[in-house]
Amino acid sequence: MIKIGILTSGGDAPGMNAAIRACVRSGLSLGLEVYGVFDGYEGLVNNNIRKLERGDVSGIIIQGGTVLGSARLEDFKLESVRQRGVDNLNALGIQGLVVIGGDGSYRGAQALSNMGINCIGIPATIDNDIDSTDYSIGFDTALNTVIQNVDKLRDTSSSHHRCSIIEVMGNRCGDLAIYAGLTTGAEVIVTKETGYDEAEVISRLQHIEETRKKRHALFIISEKITDVDLLAKKISQFTGFSGRATVLGHIQRGGSPTARDRILATQFGDMAVQLLKEGVGNKCLGLRNEKLVSMDIEEALHLPKASRKELFELHDRLV
Ligand code: ADP
Repeated sequence: MIKIGILTSGGDAPGMNAAIRACVRSGLSLGLEVYGVFDGYEGLVNNNIRKLERGDVSGIIIQGGTVLGSARLEDFKLESVRQRGVDNLNALGIQGLVVIGGDGSYRGAQALSNMGINCIGIPATIDNDIDSTDYSIGFDTALNTVIQNVDKLRDTSSSHHRCSIIEVMGNRCGDLAIYAGLTTGAEVIVTKETGYDEAEVISRLQHIEETRKKRHALFIISEKITDVDLLAKKISQFTGFSGRATVLGHIQRGGSPTARDRILATQFGDMAVQLLKEGVGNKCLGLRNEKLVSMDIEEALHLPKASRKELFELHDRLV
């Protein structure tokens, strides 16, 4: 009997549950025994591990978050701490582990693979900041949440001749901002990739206001770039728009996963289990040009970041 475990780690993302469900159901169908590891690597180290049956994942495909819970455990970087996790898995006879998470979780999975536990990483993060996949689980749901909220802000911005500055998540990655900007018709998009020059942005807004006679301007900016409340004040001061900042925050992490995230998660979950059954480890999964792929975690962690240059150029042509 092959025994496998599943854990979710790092930042949660809608669709993680769909991946868990697929791992459990496919695993059982393939004759494997499947265990849930609760609260990520923390639960692994603390032996918070329980056998899962079909019924344990009933109804979760529609739920955001993760029923297994997630956690961050800095000490997992220490081999002595990881060894406790390996010992817990060995005691239960678990030879393989599906790790659903981001880059950091992949590093943990790689370290565990090197200690004899076959690990398969599934990309899940709303930030889409994993370079080995075109889309990670959760990105599409988060993007749709951003779009819904920006559309609402547009209504009120038009009524009041406002520039609405909307700060979105993304960590170091501008994907949420650029995709949201393109799909909401935003006038300005600022991300780590575009760089940020306050004077240039203000002069761009002045130009938009003067030449286009617009009643509103939507300005989407990635988190961790500037203080958006301060920026709003400057926009009110130096342009004809009244500036208002909205930080969407953790709203972007929640909600029922979209069809795209459910399908991707289901396919990844099934593929991960098949690989573990074949005795494969130290790999992570991805979607590249609409095809499911697997690659060594080492290789995945060293791929260059996609620049999205063509998307920024497209936005420039449309604005
Ligand atoms: P994400 O997986 O979303 O990128 P984090 O970067 O917070 O999230 O990583 C999740 C967890 O993965 C960390 O809390 C830690 O337990 C583990 N981890 C991260 N980096 C390493 C590493 N170099 N070695 C071992 N484990 C790691």
